[in-house]
Parts: sequence; structure tokens; C-alpha cells
Amino acid sequence: MFLALTYHSIEYKKSGYTVGLELFRQQMEKLAAFRVGTMHDPICPDIVITFDDGLISSYRFALPILKDYKYKAYFFIPTGLIGNTRHISAAMLQEMARLGMVIGSHGITHKLMTGLTNNRLERELIDSRSELEDIIGEEVTSLSLPGGGYDCRVISIANEAGYKYIFTSEPRLNDIGDRLIGRVTMRQGMTLEKFESIIGGNLCLNRTRYLFLFLIKRFLGDGYGFIRRLLIK
Ligand SMILES: [Zn+2]
Repeated sequence: MFLALTYHSIEYKKSGYTVGLELFRQQMEKLAAFRVGTMHDPICPDIVITFDDGLISSYRFALPILKDYKYKAYFFIPTGLIGNTRHISAAMLQEMARLGMVIGSHGITHKLMTGLTNNRLERELIDSRSELEDIIGEEVTSLSLPGGGYDCRVISIANEAGYKYIFTSEPRLNDIGDRLIGRVTMRQGMTLEKFESIIGGNLCLNRTRYLFLFLIKRFLGDGYGFIRRLLIK
């Protein structure tokens, strides 16, 4: 069994999905007792660290700390944003891949994939993958679903597009061999005590919150953004 964690940005200031730099360092320290790694390692990991959205803060602030602890992590990149002022550049991606970080796709435009036509969905999945492969010169087989949204059609097209591991936002423990991998999202309100409880396997609160968001999303469609923003404060 292993637990996967999702980070977005790491900054000095914390807000929403941003985790403060000092708290991030303390969280990484707590993971020293575990095997931290990826599915590409010869030894199965206990904890998998992932970063969504390709934000430059994950390169600038999180990468040096990961290097200090010799942790390998996944970085999921929306390829349409590569090189924007707030986003990781192609040269940074090459550097990260050389350091053993796993680069994965987060689509092109970061649109919720369940709302796209088959044709558009194929472009998001296939073109983002080939662009990343061209940049890092390695096969890309991991995908994180923007907004965590998926259905049978999205998974089936992602499989056809060559993805072996698909990361969702459903907080749960995963079995080695799972191809659909649930993750716990790290937010500003995640104290070190809560973090320790989660890495100890207590996902109760996170699962309740996820179920609540899932139901709101189902009833309100994409108009649930306002409630979601309230909930992550
Ligand atoms: Zn995202």
C-alpha cells in the first residue's frame, strides 16, 4: 500500500492550495521515516509526492528541498502554460528530469476532461504527452487529471494514448499495481499534526470533505467553484 500526496504551489506566504515553505520543509522531514519514491523506482514506495499545475514555485522552492532529502517526485505539467511567467520552462523540465524527477502530463489547457469532445480530449492527452517527450527526451507515461475529474470515457482514451498511471484527486490508500491512483491534496490549513495523522493512514476527514465536494460538483456542475474556494480557506 502507498499514499500519494498532491501539492500545487510552495511559497513563503500560504493561501488556498499553497503550502508555506517552512511547513513544506517540516512535512518533508516527517517523511524521512518512509520510503519516498515513484512507481519507476526498483523499490515500491510508501509515499508518493506529486506537484500539479507546473507552477514555478515548485521548481524554485520545493525542488531544492526534495534534493536535500533525495526524494524523487512527480511533476504534472499543463503543456500550454510551459514557460509562462508563473510556470516552469522547458529548460527547467529538462533539469528536473536529469535529477530523476518524473515529468507527467496535466493536459494542455487544464480544462476538466469530462467536458471535452472525444477529439479535443485526444488532443489534450496525446499532444501534451508528445510535447513533454520532445522536451525531456524520455517516455511520458503518467497523467494527472485536471480538477481530478474523470469518467470511463476519459480513462479509456487515456489508456489508448499510452498512459500507464493516472492520478486522481480521490483521497485513498493505493495498492502497488493500481493504475488509477488516488491522492490527498495538501492545502494551507494542513498543520503538521494533521499531516502526521494523514501519513499515518488516517484519511477519514479528507474522504468526508472529498465526498462533500463530489456531491456539490455533481449537483452544481462547474458552478461549484465559489463553494470550493470557501472550503479550501
Ligand atoms: Zn491542476
